[in-house]
Amino acid sequence: TPPSGAPRPRLAFLGTGYLGTTYAICFAEMGYEVLGFDVDIDKIARLTDGEVPFHEPGLEELLKRNLAAGRLKFCTNLAQTAEFGDVHFICVGTPQRVDGMGADLSYIEAVVSGLARHLTRKALIVGKSTVPVGTAEWVEQLVGKHAPAELGVEVAWSPEFLQEGFAVEDVLRPNRIVAGVNSEWASSMLYAAHKGVLDLAATEDRDLPVVVTDFATAELVKVAANAFLATKVSFINAMAEVCEVAGGDVTQLARAIGYDPRIGNRFLQAGVGFGGGCLPKDIRAFQARAQELGAGEALRFLHEVDLINQRRRTRVLQLAADLLACRCGPAGPDLSGTRIAVLGATFKPNSDDVRDAPSLAVAALLAKAGAYVHVYDPQGMHNARRAQPDLTYAPTMTDAVRDADLVCVLTEWADFRNADPHALGTLVTHRRIIDGRNCLDPALWIQAGWEYRGMGRP
Ligand code: NAD
Repeated sequence: TPPSGAPRPRLAFLGTGYLGTTYAICFAEMGYEVLGFDVDIDKIARLTDGEVPFHEPGLEELLKRNLAAGRLKFCTNLAQTAEFGDVHFICVGTPQRVDGMGADLSYIEAVVSGLARHLTRKALIVGKSTVPVGTAEWVEQLVGKHAPAELGVEVAWSPEFLQEGFAVEDVLRPNRIVAGVNSEWASSMLYAAHKGVLDLAATEDRDLPVVVTDFATAELVKVAANAFLATKVSFINAMAEVCEVAGGDVTQLARAIGYDPRIGNRFLQAGVGFGGGCLPKDIRAFQARAQELGAGEALRFLHEVDLINQRRRTRVLQLAADLLACRCGPAGPDLSGTRIAVLGATFKPNSDDVRDAPSLAVAALLAKAGAYVHVYDPQGMHNARRAQPDLTYAPTMTDAVRDADLVCVLTEWADFRNADPHALGTLVTHRRIIDGRNCLDPALWIQAGWEYRGMGRP
């Protein structure tokens, strides 16, 4: 129960990446006083100037409005952040470790110990980053080690489910809040910090379930959700593999099984597989943690989920070799002398995030097989150039496809879905297309004289 009439807590967000920035801005929009903190000086300078350092629809307008209203500030000073916040949300990255499948918790360790050392009054530290189960307890120990005991600083865990491309809506109107807490005080502070979203849901007469639970369950909810989503994608991609040899059409299969409400049709699109900064590293870290806990066998299927996902990338390479009638040597297909346009570099549309993007991975595979690859993406060019500097990038879709022997659509941006097959046909050398996301209408392309290949379709 919220303390009635209690003032709204001041909220600090530590780590202003995709997650922390969106949260800081949206919570300021709900009327909270907010401070965003990051160690990246350039990022903080851009945010302070009203520029969102990544692509997220609708976010920059909210940033400018809340900076102007004086509710939202950004800084690189940890002492100032510690002084400001009643509730500190930890939003730093938890990437895959370079030496294994587990999560790298060094950013969590750095930010929590630093913050704890600077705290001068009681505060709540809320973990939002995706972490292996057991991390919240370890964070409590870190706080105990670095913050003066008499302050009584507490920890809570509230994992995040936002999707890039829909992040503003997902933060303002989440479909649930998960609160891992172990005291009444932590619970009431977390409630006060979420009163804005709860009030908005009430005003709009929307259900917003709140699952109040222990640390371990809160941490597990997030990785379980991502494991389920990854499994759903790999399930339909496994069906695509079977359709490819049996001559079925996985898009019709998915539609037909999706009518069963127990299955549902969302996240059931066969294609080049999942990627991004979350699903791939989260299912690996989950397996690594389960193994440490002696439950490795329970999650062995996630290894298969990962393998199915990786195989979709090589499937595009095989399709390209088939369409281009290239020789296949012991080291794989030889695509030398061919020119291929890759449309899409981000892991999904409406984002500029290229982390573990299947599209870029496939572009690299095609280039390694000897093809002259030209990549174009509406928003991801800057990040793609940094991630894969050896590839060639085209400034427009037209430039990418000009003189191509093959076009591969690997991210389902609206620009590509709505492309005119006749107009593109006048630019290419050969009308051949691989629809790596099954996002095009094959009939339209075939009528326009293209050789069309989808994923798991005849
Ligand atoms: P990101 O890489 O975009 O952002 C991480 C930020 O943390 C960077 O700006 C980095 O400079 C900053 N940082 C690193 N060390 C720091 C320190 N010591 N002090 C302050 N800042 C520091 O990552 P992200 O996509 O925002 O993800 C953050 C976490 O949220 C991850 O655990 C991720 O799994 C989880 N998550 C992400 C999403 C998503 O859609 N991006 C959704 C749900 C959960």
